[in-house]
Formats: sequence, structure tokens, C-alpha cells
Amino acid sequence: ATPTAVMVGVGRGAVHGIVFRSAAALETAGRLDVLVVDKTGTLTEGRPRVVDVHAEPGRTPAQVLAVAAALEEGSEHPLAAAILDATQAAGVVVPRLEAFAVVEGIGVEGTLAGAPARIGAPGWALQDTPQAGAADALVAGRGAGHTLVAVVHAGALLGSIALADAVRPSSREAVQRLRALGVEVVMLTGDNPGTAAAVAASVGIDQVQAQVLPAGKADYVARQRAEGRVVGMAGDGVNDAPALATADVGFAMGAGSDVALEAGDITLMRNDLRSVADAIAMSRATLRKIR
Ligand code: ADP
Ligand code: MG
Repeated sequence: ATPTAVMVGVGRGAVHGIVFRSAAALETAGRLDVLVVDKTGTLTEGRPRVVDVHAEPGRTPAQVLAVAAALEEGSEHPLAAAILDATQAAGVVVPRLEAFAVVEGIGVEGTLAGAPARIGAPGWALQDTPQAGAADALVAGRGAGHTLVAVVHAGALLGSIALADAVRPSSREAVQRLRALGVEVVMLTGDNPGTAAAVAASVGIDQVQAQVLPAGKADYVARQRAEGRVVGMAGDGVNDAPALATADVGFAMGAGSDVALEAGDITLMRNDLRSVADAIAMSRATLRKIR
């Protein structure tokens, strides 16, 4: 690689909001066989809003929001911000937790009034409760293509919260351009299968895996690489960091979490997946000049 051609390529990227953090990132981007993309915050805006708060019999939406917000106060997840906004708008007073821990890609757990509390993916939140077998039915019944989180306190389901996040208008065109460049596109998300399928269909992706944990995203990338493929990963969240670090080229959304930005090789300042296609084209143009 001639250093001059690479420097020109890196400079041209910066003008277009594509920050190559190494010469190797610029050189490898043009050789990608497959791009793995996260859903929330990558294909979607990452600014979810609460569309429904459902309380189980004998509970109120205010009780559901109070426990939910108490748990989310310590989380940096986009879902947390949406739930805190809705709680404030409803004028609900948020109780104080005695302890809490974030479970990446799953939810938040803590202790409230001396009893365990959880918010997150229903299959996880409902474990050890009488409704443990009802998680899928809950998602199917109340989710309807939305992200659905269950709120549990003292071993009982209090209710659930449905959230919606708009797809970025540029995502569909980005997927088309990546295909035209000969790159296969696969979506991996921690969200439920219904929401995953709805977003994938709206952006034109036909390879989807839902309910994938952060380590599962990294495993998928590692398996593809083991088959000899050059793998890119685009993501924004703490949950995407292991996969971003495992990929041949990690693309981090500029508005993403610091952990994701650190793990990535290329930063997309415009938060637009079309920049991945631009980066690939720039890389190929640079390599042509070198040869
Ligand atoms: P994605 O892969 O789409 O970016 P995540 O891996 O961040 O999604 O989250 C996967 C799922 O885990 C969410 O859809 C939600 O059900 C649950 N979850 C994760 N973090 C939280 C949180 N802070 N509060 C509630 N639910 C959460
Ligand atoms: Mg994300």
C-alpha cells in the first residue's frame, strides 16, 4: 500500500463523515464479503418511544412505570431514556432502588423495597415467576411488531411496556447499495422475532436472527470469519461492542455508545448506513491506485 494513496483515502473519508481509525480499516473495507448489522440504533433511529403501558389485573400503569423507571435510571440503553420520559410525562414518582445491575442485551435487575425487580426481554424477566411459560404469548399478544419489555417485582409480573423506534429513512437504500457492491447483509438483534422481521422487511434484509445476546453476535462474526469470509459489523450499542471488535472491520455509529466507538475501526459520523457503502467504494478506489 502506498502511504500517499491511503492518506488521500483517509482524508476523503473524513470529508464525508467516515473516520477510518487505521490504514488497515480503509484497505480491508473494500474486501468485505458480508456485513452484519444491528437493528436498534443502526437500522433504526435508536430513539424509541413508549407506545403502550399495560398493567396486569390488580395493578396500575403508574405502578408499572414506577418500577420500570426505578430500574432504568441507571441504564444507558435507548429504551431506558424512552421509559424515563414516559414516566416523567405521566407524573409518576420514581422509587429508589437498593441495588441494581445491567444485564447487557437483556435488561436490568435490582432490589426494590427489599424484593427483586426486573425489566427486560420477557423470556428473561419472567423466569422464576408463575408466568414463566407465557413470555412468547405476551410478546405476540402485546408486542405487535414493537419491542416489548416485561416489568417484574417480588416474583410477580406487574405489566409490560411496548416501544417503537422508527427505521432510518436511509437504511433501505443502504442495503440495496451494499448488495450492488456484492456484499451480503445479515441482521442480528437482541429484540424479539416479530420486531426483527418487521424491520428487516422494511429495509429489504432477508437474513435475520432475533434474541441474539451480545456474545452471540460476536460468535456469529467469528464463525463467518472461520469460513474464510471477510466480515464487517455495523452497530451502535454496548451490546454490539464484542462483535465490532471481532469483525475484520467494525463500523460504529457516531451517535453510538463510547464502548462501541472504541471497539470499532471506522466511525460513521452521519449515523447513516449508506456511509458503509461509501467506505467500501472509497477503499476499492484507493486499492486500485495502489496496484
Ligand atoms: P439490539 O440488538 O436490537 O440493539 P439489545 O441487545 O440492546 O437490542 O437489547 C435486546 C433486548 O433486551 C431489547 O429488545 C429488550 O427487550 C431487552 N433490553 C436490553 N436492555 C434493556 C433495558 N435497559 N431495559 C429494558 N429492556 C432491555
Ligand atoms: Mg443497537
